[in-house]
Amino acid sequence: MSYKIAFCFSLLLAACAQHQGITQNKLSKTPNIVILFTDDLGYGDLSVYGHPTIHTANLDRMAAEGQKWTNFYVGASVCTPSRAALLTGRLPIRNGMEGAPPNRVLFPDSQRGLPQSEVTIAEQLKKAGYATACVGKWHLGHKEEYLPTSHGFDYYYGIPYSNDMDNVALANIKNYQDYWDFWSSAPERKDINTFNVPIMRNTEVIERPADQHTITKRYTEESIRFMKENKNKPFFVYLAYNLPHVPLFASKEFEGKSKRGLYGDTVEEIDWSAGQIMDWLKAEGLAENTIVVFTSDNGPWLPMGLEGGSAGLLRDGKGTTWEGGMREPCIFWSPGNIKPAIISGIGTTMDLFTTFSQLAGVPVPTDRIVDGVDLSPVLFKGQESPRQDMFYYRGMELYAVRVGSYKAHLITESGYSQPDKTVHNPPLLYNLDEDPSEQYEISAKHPEIIEQIMQVVKEHKAKLVVGEDQLKYREPRK
Ligand code: MG
Repeated sequence: MSYKIAFCFSLLLAACAQHQGITQNKLSKTPNIVILFTDDLGYGDLSVYGHPTIHTANLDRMAAEGQKWTNFYVGASVCTPSRAALLTGRLPIRNGMEGAPPNRVLFPDSQRGLPQSEVTIAEQLKKAGYATACVGKWHLGHKEEYLPTSHGFDYYYGIPYSNDMDNVALANIKNYQDYWDFWSSAPERKDINTFNVPIMRNTEVIERPADQHTITKRYTEESIRFMKENKNKPFFVYLAYNLPHVPLFASKEFEGKSKRGLYGDTVEEIDWSAGQIMDWLKAEGLAENTIVVFTSDNGPWLPMGLEGGSAGLLRDGKGTTWEGGMREPCIFWSPGNIKPAIISGIGTTMDLFTTFSQLAGVPVPTDRIVDGVDLSPVLFKGQESPRQDMFYYRGMELYAVRVGSYKAHLITESGYSQPDKTVHNPPLLYNLDEDPSEQYEISAKHPEIIEQIMQVVKEHKAKLVVGEDQLKYREPRK
């Protein structure tokens, strides 16, 4: 009798776990979640993704113990829209932060930010009782009503936009082209003492100019302090490093350490930071009830030369819809829960919103289109990714679409400064599984695949609802 009751009870538990999407793991109903998000790190900048001289032993270990994804994308190829996509689970064209040219990102004189009507991961997790912190770069509006503390985060500490903004030489910047002109003239000769970015705690500026040499170390300390203070309840930490975006800074302990120069030093310091966080979680016995994910906001800023990163074997970088602009390293780690593997299925940062909402038992909003899908079947059961497509936007325009192995470019354009926007009819076609470097164009051989992809585009555009509310929040165009 008691055996039967126990058996029925275990079936009930299994059904509940199934409902939560967390079978075969030891996570509680509200696991801790940590997102480590770098700025402008390329696909080829970690040793576990093939870099020969940047040594990232901690991230390599994270990948060996967890899942290394090789087809993981961001929602846009520059900072602001990419961050909006991660936090809302929605394509930037839907959330008001699409970054239309000429201003593709927010600037220190921007008056607006992520609309209040958007729902962030932090707001979702608050519904399940999480303590929430944003540490690092925000870049979704620095006025009080747009800061992390107005978007579901209990605590904010960090630089509210890019670490190169607020420079004396940028005082007369009127648009993105001016900004680019500033940077494109000898980036290595910029005087790091002229950068005047603030550090904020919640809604107050507490330091200006920020001492960026210690910024990675301080972000790490702030994150661990927050986890320590909240270790008896579920916590969510969104740690968005300002580096390795130019200008580059490393602390005394890391400067000169890497064979890859200052760029490598900054990446190795971020690797140290990830190691500190994983070690703390293990020491506290929390690792088996925590999911840590590491990824980056967009590809390497290639025109920066040695100050910029590398997309490895992927084509081009930041600012473009070639793979190097939007495919990123991505590692998921949760010892005993996430099945160690190399995953070549498709995933995106938008899927974090849906995956973490489902894990915490919080329904995904149904009053809007959410682009994320739940990656739990891949993470916990080793199943195929439920995502089959990827839409590459630049501002309001759809530039490329991936369906399965194939990617069609409807439009191509350089990341910066060159007037070479080209509409392709028929679209350019590449098989990304066979040709990740997008070197062998095959549209003439496969008109039937182009036809299938254009059908997907048609269906996507038919459902593309951009609300008045989102339009209202868009930054006035300069
Ligand atoms: Mg960036």
